[in-house]
Amino acid sequence: HANVRLLTRHRVLRLLRGGADGKGVEAVETDQGTLRARVVVLAAGAVHSAALLLASADATAPRGLANSSDQVGRNYMCHLNSACMALKAAQENTTIFQKTLAINDFYDDSGDPDYPYPLGHIQNLGKVTPALLHAQQPLLPIPVSAWTASHSVDWWLTTEDLPDADNRVTLDSDGEIRLAWQPKNRESHQRLCAQWRRILHQAGFPMVFFQAMDISATAHQVGTCRFGEDPKDSVLNPWCKTHDIDNLYVVDASFMPSISAVNPSLTIMANAIRVAAHLAERFKTGVWA
Ligand SMILES: Cc1cc2nc3c(=O)[nH]c(=O)nc-3n(C[C@H](O)[C@H](O)[C@H](O)COP(=O)(O)OP(=O)(O)OC[C@H]3O[C@@H](n4cnc5c(N)ncnc54)[C@H](O)[C@@H]3O)c2cc1C
Repeated sequence: HANVRLLTRHRVLRLLRGGADGKGVEAVETDQGTLRARVVVLAAGAVHSAALLLASADATAPRGLANSSDQVGRNYMCHLNSACMALKAAQENTTIFQKTLAINDFYDDSGDPDYPYPLGHIQNLGKVTPALLHAQQPLLPIPVSAWTASHSVDWWLTTEDLPDADNRVTLDSDGEIRLAWQPKNRESHQRLCAQWRRILHQAGFPMVFFQAMDISATAHQVGTCRFGEDPKDSVLNPWCKTHDIDNLYVVDASFMPSISAVNPSLTIMANAIRVAAHLAERFKTGVWA
């Protein structure tokens, strides 16, 4: 569209309220100046979108914009992940493009009638190299890393984290972003690893090693502005419009009320397309003329 401008190298600092009744968002303050807008769609990712809403607190919203429910920043979730290497001494793995197989059999069925909860998802990793293994396990002698990497079949196991109000993004008094997080649902993850170990042994791999990943390995994070019907326990309505402010939307990973156990990008994109269609319809009504 001829009128569309994409401005790069603008760091958003806060959203500013205004408009006819003072209840809308009127402008976005950036490190390059202030931009006015009829509608603001925040998409800075699960940590930074929440942080920007909190940083935009003002006299009428002292806890942060769109935060009358005190839910902004809460319910942060990131996947519980483990890397797994399966080895048979007699068999070298010469694969180059290993990431070819994904298994969801334990997503719905834990395999244990006494544990009626989902476990998660298993996929091949891209081939682990000696350098990567050495970086993860620096105490392993280099010849051992090289042998192990050339014989292993490598896997990545993902389990849902569960929402918890105390797992949250906050701001320090000086504006620094803080993240408080404790993993939830560890038992499902341990059970998934145990199931996979059993199956790999059955498949003829006598040596199976797991390494649990901590928060420093996070790639998938969601939940800090979750959507829902009830303004008391969600930040966004089902169209990702903030319950509190009519011209403010959040359309990134923060809308997700649960993280699932699979990679999130396609869901984030599909939701953005869905909300874009809704916004186009709202524009047509002239509500923001
Ligand atoms: C190493 C890695 C591998 C991954 N692999 C996969 C995969 O295989 N499959 C998959 O589905 N997902 C994968 N993900 C996850 C995926 O990238 C994220 O889930 C997804 O990008 C999140 O989308 P988002 O829109 O919420 O945020 P982002 O994609 O993070 O977009 C947020 C944008 O906002 C910008 N921003 C933040 N703050 C400000 C500010 N104050 N002012 C201006 N701009 C700001 C950021 O620079 C960024 O461009 C991976 C992530 C990582 C890190």
